[in-house]
Amino acid sequence: MKKDIKSFTLTQLTDELTAMGEKAFRAKQMYEWMHVKLVRSFDEMTNLSKEIRERCKENYSFTTLHAIEVQESKLDGTKKFLFELSDGNLVESVWMKYKHGNSVCISSQVGCRMGCKFCASTLDGLERNLLPSEMLEQIYAITRLTGERVSNVVVMGIGEPMDNYDNLLTFLRLITDENGLNISQRNITVSTCGLVPKMRQLAEEKLQITLALSLHATTDEKRKKLMPIANRYSIKELMEICNYYFEQTGRRITFEYSLVGGVNDTMEDARELIALAKPLCCHVNLIPVNPIKERDYVQSDTGHVQAFKNILEKNKINCTIRREMGRDIDGACGQLRRRHIT
Ligand code: SAH
Repeated sequence: MKKDIKSFTLTQLTDELTAMGEKAFRAKQMYEWMHVKLVRSFDEMTNLSKEIRERCKENYSFTTLHAIEVQESKLDGTKKFLFELSDGNLVESVWMKYKHGNSVCISSQVGCRMGCKFCASTLDGLERNLLPSEMLEQIYAITRLTGERVSNVVVMGIGEPMDNYDNLLTFLRLITDENGLNISQRNITVSTCGLVPKMRQLAEEKLQITLALSLHATTDEKRKKLMPIANRYSIKELMEICNYYFEQTGRRITFEYSLVGGVNDTMEDARELIALAKPLCCHVNLIPVNPIKERDYVQSDTGHVQAFKNILEKNKINCTIRREMGRDIDGACGQLRRRHIT
């Protein structure tokens, strides 16, 4: 199999090209074509000789994604992209326009093996991990298609990023590289269902990215009903590791809490959530659950979500209700891909 040239760091690319007998500055030029000018092929690298380009084509694969469907929300301009990978697999990414800039939500795997009960991405299990280049290309392709710069990245699409840790880390290094798109670490969020050992590893990288934990329940017993991963790691361990992440990085943790009507949205749940959140430097993001047709979960009604938020705020917990972007297009993670594969 050919090596994937877009997943190399500049140092690795320099080693590769010098091993081929090229000068180091050629690597810098090539890196810029790929990661700043966002070209789609070796042929567009016009300041490199035809001979180098041909040799690269022989030795390396060049990851590009092909958008096979784009949905645009009439409500808020959110765009959802369904991309085809070179092996025919599909992933989806979402582009959202905010006052503070453009944000892209990317997928980290084809499918997912975590089995969360309310999530559409996991219904057919895990197909494979995404390469660093395939995570980057979601952002690059969207930049080319919209003609606008992306300033924020959230790794909250299909897949569990911590289950693809090494590729995730390479992706983070490349997307924040000053020789590449140079997106600020502070503008990146990685969301996890809570793989504790990987969260520890990430803390020790001491990056300035935001870690979001999908909590969704306040006791192990209730969490196990929604998320199989709760059988592996307890809420106590999760709170300890979140605290450790804050100690190591100084970054406030985000707790994601999807409100499922009649399941985790009582006032008792709110009080338990306050008790968990209080000792930590954190922010709670409430998400009205997005119902999927394969399960019979329902949203809590709007008044109830507001009441849940109010009680958190009264207790001085930082809290927001996630704006539901693109309500009129296949909203929840994995729905667009699933409609195509079934
Ligand atoms: N695997 C990672 C990231 C992907 S999901 C994680 O678990 O965090 C991004 C967020 O959306 C997670 O908090 C996830 O639990 C939540 N989510 C998934 N399906 C949802 C749905 N149908 N309604 C509301 N939130 C959902």
